[in-house]
Amino acid sequence: MSRDRYTINPITEEESYRDFVNTITEDGKRNWIYPKKPSGKYYNYRTILSWFLLGFLFAGPFITINGNPLILLNVLERKFVLFGLVFWPQDFYLFFLAMLTIVVFVVLFTAIWGRLFCGWVCPQTIFMEMLFRKIEYWIEGDFQQQRKLNEKPLDRDKFVKKSTKHVLFFALSFLIANTFLAYVIGVEELQAIVTAPPTEHLTGFIAIMIFTTVFYGVFSRFREQVCLVACPYGRFQSVLVDNDSLAVTYDFARGEGRAKVKERVKEGDLVTNIPKKADAGVSSYGDCIDCELCVKVCPTGIDIRNGIQLECINCTACMDACDDVMRRIGKPEKLITHTSYNAVVEGTKASFFTPRIVAYLGVFSLLLGLFTYLLLTRPEVNTVILREPGLLYNELPDNRFSNFYNARFFNKTFNEMDVELRLLQPAGGEIQFLGAMEPIAGQNQIERRLMVFLPGGALTGNQTPVEFGIYRNGELIQTVRSQFIGPEPSRIRTN
Ligand code: SF4
Ligand code: SF4
Repeated sequence: MSRDRYTINPITEEESYRDFVNTITEDGKRNWIYPKKPSGKYYNYRTILSWFLLGFLFAGPFITINGNPLILLNVLERKFVLFGLVFWPQDFYLFFLAMLTIVVFVVLFTAIWGRLFCGWVCPQTIFMEMLFRKIEYWIEGDFQQQRKLNEKPLDRDKFVKKSTKHVLFFALSFLIANTFLAYVIGVEELQAIVTAPPTEHLTGFIAIMIFTTVFYGVFSRFREQVCLVACPYGRFQSVLVDNDSLAVTYDFARGEGRAKVKERVKEGDLVTNIPKKADAGVSSYGDCIDCELCVKVCPTGIDIRNGIQLECINCTACMDACDDVMRRIGKPEKLITHTSYNAVVEGTKASFFTPRIVAYLGVFSLLLGLFTYLLLTRPEVNTVILREPGLLYNELPDNRFSNFYNARFFNKTFNEMDVELRLLQPAGGEIQFLGAMEPIAGQNQIERRLMVFLPGGALTGNQTPVEFGIYRNGELIQTVRSQFIGPEPSRIRTN
């Protein structure tokens, strides 16, 4: 990110924070972060939102719409269901368009609200901060107690606390692994794996244990490193945000001239009587009392007073901490707030309707409109008819020829449907199904084998184009072309 973009506090011009990573010690080891237990208005909102999202995530595999799962991303069988709508392999263009629309939405969202998604909606943060971290606070206490526990030699108390925590972490990871797998293979398949002995579903059992171990490793050890080094979305931040993007921002214009309470009192400045700063000169104090509570609550270990940093996941814990401090010293809240750099500089309300946002909004609206149109107008039935591979033609005594075909009918509606297949071209041909042609259940498919008979006179060579018509209630709803294999033209009798 270039120097003219807001990455430092422009008043202190402090840049030494760039020389180290908070989570790595000078000798290259992991610097374990012990964030203080957050509390406050925004934390309460996040808690409510996260319970709602967790409820949705864990209940999701069991919710069905017209017999289909709410969401199924079965990559192995190439079956995708979004909100009960089945996307077959033939609908890949729609799926691709849906993904593209989501990517543009993420770009738009990030350009406006920065990394808010990371702190408030991302499953990694929600699991970490709202489940695993809470278990840790519950068993080991707040950050000072956790640090002491880790530093003291192993005794009975430490053993009990640590083993209880890790057993709970592993159990929770197992539950999360099962839930994610249910979104991939479906809840019935998962039930079959979980309820049968592991030897009967060895692959499924191994997959669950691998997922569980990965989740356990992430939430017990890797933690904030996912957001700092592994998450690709985090890496995009520096190109997506600009000085108009909303982000958790320290109001340096108001806060700088920071000084600790002790220092202020020594200088005869009552804490509750700190002069309101019009500018951030050195002669008077700013509102920041340098208590570092905003740093202590930060789960990624940064000091937001240095400016927007890649590590900030916009969790707003520092906003809660600072608001509490401001209330206690009789100053207005929002010294750290959700605003843009330009709004802080200009002392105005943040406005994100910049030409760039309008352009993103235009592209997003176009894609969304196109996706909605294609989704609503996609045919009710999709039929694929292919000649049986490896088989040639049959010659019958009455100068007729036959080919085997395989037909797949996909019913994309939610209702059971009867369809009829007719041969449109060439004239004089006939279709015979091997087995009955049954109704197709809603959002489902059936596969049938059939034979097509053509008189010798209808053949145009060893490859004759044929055209099928798919009818519903007597109305033609789709046509499908294929080829009919016959003998060399010299061997065909025309009568
Ligand atoms: S919590 Fe507020 S007052 Fe305390 S150091 Fe951070 S910005 Fe300054
Ligand atoms: S700086 Fe504030 S918002 Fe950003 S990660 Fe730290 S506590 Fe969360």
